[in-house]
Amino acid sequence: MHVHDQQAHDLMELVFAFTAERMAMDPPPLDFSVPFAELQAQAGQTITAEGLGGTEVMRLFEEVLGPACLSIDHPRYLSFIPAAPTEAATLFDLIVSATSIYGGSWLEGSGSVYAENQTLRWLADLAGLPDGAGGTFVSGGSIANLSALAVARTVWRDVDPAREERRPLVLLSSAAHSSNAAALALLDLRSQPVEVDGADRMTAAALRTALDSLTDAERESVCAVVATAGLTNTGTVDDLSAAAEAAAELGAWFHVDGAYGGAALCSTTRRHLFAGIERADSLTIDPHKWLFAPYDCAAILYREPRLAKRTFTQHAGYLDVLTETDDWSPSDYAPHLSRRARGLPTWFSLAVHGTDAYRDAIDITIATTEAATEVIRATDHLELVTEPELSVIVFRRTGWDRDQYWAWSEQLLADQIGFVVPTTWRGETVLRLCITNPRTTLDDVRACLPD
Ligand SMILES: *Cc1c(COP(=O)(O)O)cnc(C)c1O
Repeated sequence: MHVHDQQAHDLMELVFAFTAERMAMDPPPLDFSVPFAELQAQAGQTITAEGLGGTEVMRLFEEVLGPACLSIDHPRYLSFIPAAPTEAATLFDLIVSATSIYGGSWLEGSGSVYAENQTLRWLADLAGLPDGAGGTFVSGGSIANLSALAVARTVWRDVDPAREERRPLVLLSSAAHSSNAAALALLDLRSQPVEVDGADRMTAAALRTALDSLTDAERESVCAVVATAGLTNTGTVDDLSAAAEAAAELGAWFHVDGAYGGAALCSTTRRHLFAGIERADSLTIDPHKWLFAPYDCAAILYREPRLAKRTFTQHAGYLDVLTETDDWSPSDYAPHLSRRARGLPTWFSLAVHGTDAYRDAIDITIATTEAATEVIRATDHLELVTEPELSVIVFRRTGWDRDQYWAWSEQLLADQIGFVVPTTWRGETVLRLCITNPRTTLDDVRACLPD
């Protein structure tokens, strides 16, 4: 077996050269989504008994597979939630791999855990969470939300052994991210929907109505209230103070899903929208969305981490050296054991650039969003659907039907101008832009607006 050293030097040159070239592109090509048959024809069977060799496999990646992956970090990729990792974060991601750091335990990765925890502390401070708060980095907001709700369920059940057999309720808005519904299904929890306003916001009034509609038995069954700090579809922030109040009234866990929007805690102009977030029992923020980290990186923070530890710590004879200590091990704070030190790229970038640079970068994206909003407002055939709060703009092209939106979007990518896909708003096909890349300029946005 020579898999570890064969051609290692040649491979290093190939990989570093490719990486350097890709990182120097400004911008990189947007690239395409390629049908399976075409990829099969061009790439064929890549895994063989003999191996194809580094040169050939890198050629396949550079010429066939890589260009069949959209450049999420392109300044005109404005769909879903774009990524815009800093060079510092991307480069350090290479080091995380090259050093085989084990991110699961203090015993094996103390230096890495120390650095990740300072990163988590920065996020906790932005939110105003108390000194004892902490958590870990997981693969995405979906797993972060699942982790939070699993802890909420444990805490609710711990009150009374008779609750072991019962299915608790979670109060959340009908506009909450789909990962919350997925988590409820996995955890066998029931949902109690809260109505939303014209911008999909969960308001104090709607929460009051939801609370008043609960029977006594239902009130006692609520294990968590989930609020969203930055809806994915509209960027709207729920009334977090009212949600915190509702959770307190019910004696329930308060989870804030800030997977996308939590980054705006460092904004100089939007912080007020997050009032009440400091009361969260758990908080999700994805650095891979709007905090300039490469995939995959999502923070789950707990006000009282020991509750998460009770939910997640795995026990086994071979793990006693890890679990029978007071050391802080990230594996205790989510449903995972082995883990990549995926918080380190964000840590490195924050440590290199300083937090002011993050504030400024967020402010730039919000300023670009505001400028783009004014352009849309001033264009006759375009119409805002909701008032943007963070960095998402939802708008319609008057007179278009679903097919016209879809055809326009496909053409925009086919022409390699930009990537903007339609979304659905109250049953209507409309357009949605999301600006999380500080390199996205107003001219980039203009190029991505329909005539
Ligand atoms: C993106 C998103 C999620 C899911 O996060 P992933 O990292 O994609 O798993 C959850 N909640 C909100 C509000 C999001 O925007």
